[in-house]
Amino acid sequence: MKSYFVRTFGCQMNKHDSERIAGLLEQRGLTRADAPESADVIVFNTCCVRETADERLYGQVSSLKALKTGGRPDVIIAVGGCVGQRDGAEVLRHVPHVDVVFGTHNIHELPSLLDAAEQGRSAVSVLEGGDRFASDLPSVRDTAWHAWVSITVGCDNHCAYCIVPTVRGPERSRSLEVVVAEVVSLVADGVVEVTLLGQNVNSFGRDRYGAPRFAELLRAVASTGVERIRFATSHPKDLSDDTIAAMAEIPSIMPYLHLPVQHGSNRILAAMNRRYTREQYLARIEALRAAIPGITLSTDIIVGFPGETEDDFAETLDLVRRVGFDHAFTFIYSRREGTPAAALVDTVPRDVAQERFDRLAVLVRDLAYASNEREVGAVRSCLIEGPSRRDPAVLAARTPHNKLVHLPVAAGTRAADVAGSLQDVAITAAHPWFLTGEFA
Ligand code: SF4
Repeated sequence: MKSYFVRTFGCQMNKHDSERIAGLLEQRGLTRADAPESADVIVFNTCCVRETADERLYGQVSSLKALKTGGRPDVIIAVGGCVGQRDGAEVLRHVPHVDVVFGTHNIHELPSLLDAAEQGRSAVSVLEGGDRFASDLPSVRDTAWHAWVSITVGCDNHCAYCIVPTVRGPERSRSLEVVVAEVVSLVADGVVEVTLLGQNVNSFGRDRYGAPRFAELLRAVASTGVERIRFATSHPKDLSDDTIAAMAEIPSIMPYLHLPVQHGSNRILAAMNRRYTREQYLARIEALRAAIPGITLSTDIIVGFPGETEDDFAETLDLVRRVGFDHAFTFIYSRREGTPAAALVDTVPRDVAQERFDRLAVLVRDLAYASNEREVGAVRSCLIEGPSRRDPAVLAARTPHNKLVHLPVAAGTRAADVAGSLQDVAITAAHPWFLTGEFA
């Protein structure tokens, strides 16, 4: 029996797409291989948001040439996702031993592209747009208890640094009824937690219904009885009072929000085309904390955007301190061809950006540690995710506030026995990036 291997780069959206790619391949009769070297079909589901992911992809695909020239010429290599969408047939110019290229809009075409490749033809197909959602395709989920559910694809925001609107297209929403029906069937299948996915979940429904209906969707998804609901990603300008109210009133919506701020300076926020000010962002945080006491907050921050001065950066540090984020994902600005910001003169030398990044990283770590220390002594209902990646004798679990907890596997049980269950965990110690605990 033939086998496949899917390597995923990038965001949760790509992870979800990869589950669908695996679903299509298994429908074709392929089985999952443990490593690319032993697979008959190798799929790279790619990301081009950051230069590093782009470079890693081409490095990894190039290194597989030896596989094809070294006795396994029938191995099929496919490149899909954002790089496939952006580069199309250009991928073959960089790495001629690739057989299949597909984009973000046509995962469903993968079987027919593989047919062509099996007949010895290079198969490239990239669509400019599409209405197929990954969630409509067959799936092989990574876990039985968690599911990604896409509610929108694409984005209309055009932040200056971001390639996503180019590679994912304009925002399109699924119908509310279809999303709810999918969650109903996931719950029947034993799923405990769903994560609703979109580039900007808050504007769900705007294209389809003329106005956002995200709060309504949250209430409808909660009515399915699913135990835990998370969602990503939220845009601060579209986070409505109604959504905050739904988060406050529905116990199954987890008390955690990822709300990317990107910068603390109004001048840079305007240059980034984020369409909110720092004051408006801080007002949203205040509203969230008033409605949902104890909510944890994470964010994304870019350092070194063109034009950023030391004063601008100081405003980022100030905003991070004011909010007291529980976690932050920090990045040094990476110029992406095809984005509006690519035309801007890069004014921040790399060493300056790195030095600012390092200062921000220290602040973020200190805040994360302080946030974790506040958890010590609490008992939290945690979703057990399975053995930790580093130590099979240790379980990884997730608190409602999205904090990772490590705890010992109870005597006489195996990690697999409790994976996917909700358990009360007493938090015993804090570390900068995780907690330790024990079954309560
Ligand atoms: S909201 Fe901005 S950063 Fe997010 S996907 Fe859309 S354009 Fe990119």
